Amino acid sequence: MAEKKKRKMRPDRVKMRMQDASERIHNFDEVASGYTRQQAIEEAMRCLYCKKVPCDEACPLHCRPAEYIALIEQGDFDKALAQILEYNPFPSACGRVCVHFCEEKCTVGKKGTPLAIAWLKRAAADYGQATVSPREPTGKRVAVIGAGPAGFTVAWECAKAGHGVTIFEGLPSPGGMLWAGIPPYRLPREELNRDIQRILDLGVELLVGSPITSEQEIRDLLEEYDAVFIGIGAHEPRWMGTEGEDLDGVVHVVDFLRDVNMGKDVKVGDKTAVIGGGSSAMDAVRTARRLGADAFIVYRRAREQMPADEAEIEEVEEEGIVFNFLTNPTRILGKDGKMTGLECLRMELGEPDESGRRRPVPIEGSEFVIECDMMIQAISQRPDITWLEKDSKFETTRWQTFEVDPETSETSVPGIFAAGDDVSGPATIVEAIADARKAAQGILDDLEQT
Ligand SMILES: Cc1cc2nc3c(=O)[nH]c(=O)nc-3n(C[C@H](O)[C@H](O)[C@H](O)COP(=O)(O)OP(=O)(O)OC[C@H]3O[C@@H](n4cnc5c(N)ncnc54)[C@H](O)[C@@H]3O)c2cc1C
Repeated sequence: MAEKKKRKMRPDRVKMRMQDASERIHNFDEVASGYTRQQAIEEAMRCLYCKKVPCDEACPLHCRPAEYIALIEQGDFDKALAQILEYNPFPSACGRVCVHFCEEKCTVGKKGTPLAIAWLKRAAADYGQATVSPREPTGKRVAVIGAGPAGFTVAWECAKAGHGVTIFEGLPSPGGMLWAGIPPYRLPREELNRDIQRILDLGVELLVGSPITSEQEIRDLLEEYDAVFIGIGAHEPRWMGTEGEDLDGVVHVVDFLRDVNMGKDVKVGDKTAVIGGGSSAMDAVRTARRLGADAFIVYRRAREQMPADEAEIEEVEEEGIVFNFLTNPTRILGKDGKMTGLECLRMELGEPDESGRRRPVPIEGSEFVIECDMMIQAISQRPDITWLEKDSKFETTRWQTFEVDPETSETSVPGIFAAGDDVSGPATIVEAIADARKAAQGILDDLEQT
């Protein structure tokens, strides 16, 4: 640990080189270039090593950021990476796209820009080398359904403990939403694959293009494996029921981004409206822009209420993308089965709702039409559990998520565990990893007793 002497606050973050907005709107190359080793050391020197560690308290993983920051400050990127891997098998991915709850609580942020904790994690992943070895084989086997951050975290923890692990993934490539959702200009695939390869190097078997399509298949897995983990995420589009959703040109963000990321020839409209204010809406609008559309955001609340990360919103603004705030789509207009426009209502902010944000209230008689030939709905998605039987043994909620024991993450079916977006609903990578670590512990405890 670095010397814990009182140091002077350095309010300004070491800047990272970004690809110029006028260039990057024409390509899918990474926007942020990353710190050099020296820049990372300088940024780490801004850490105040607070006694109360608010960054650690804010992180769902409680990954002790000050420890790897201190190691980076000493120039020891290898040890920094090894420390991160104790908690998080996705340092490259999280160093780039974690929502960094830690930075929101960073003490330096009270008087300046918070320490770039995520970017420091990225530097450890970029420059560090660390090998993790599994324990002696136990002869026990775990089946994991879904190769997203939750599934891979369970695979990582179980394989480290010496259990054999096989992952069944429905899509042709692993990574979950990190591959099927997040575009490569935020998370280059070679960086994602670096994290994945480290997990596979523990001897984890990965079967892609192998979806589980019935409850019977899961029961069969229990015959062959000692425990089963379900980490299928939230991949089913959730529609709002707006009139005209069946028109040609109307797509859901999950389908749109997955098709683009799979390398399909995806056509965008000349004018493409993206509905929503979260991270997935930002990804959709920037992707549509890069594919040549005049793409813009339609959001029913105000800018300060957007759930997307502020830095990401700023990058979208730099790319010249227009935001239509306090605008609520009420009807999708079409002709001959094809979308032609979006009827909207103007909104104003009323009293706070249960989320604490001021509720958008429609302004009567304010209907107007935005002409556009494509709409990407980026409001919400949910787990696809259509494969469950009608009288399923799995208890689920009305949001189509699995009910699990809060202590062990075991579902209502003994020996089958679940975590990630298919339990919490759409959340974040770090939350999926944290919940999956808990589920892995539930599995390890269970296997110890058998
Ligand atoms: C567009 C978009 C952008 C996002 N950006 C961010 C961000 O910047 N930062 C952040 O922290 N979070 C972000 N998120 C959220 C984050 O990606 C998810 O919270 C996280 O990936 C959830 O992990 P998971 O493992 O639970 O599920 P997933 O990552 O969804 O992985 C589930 C896996 O299970 C597979 N699967 C599904 N059904 C089956 C089946 N029947 N059989 C076999 N395999 C199956 C899926 O194909 C998938 O590979 C974003 C989400 C989206 C949609």
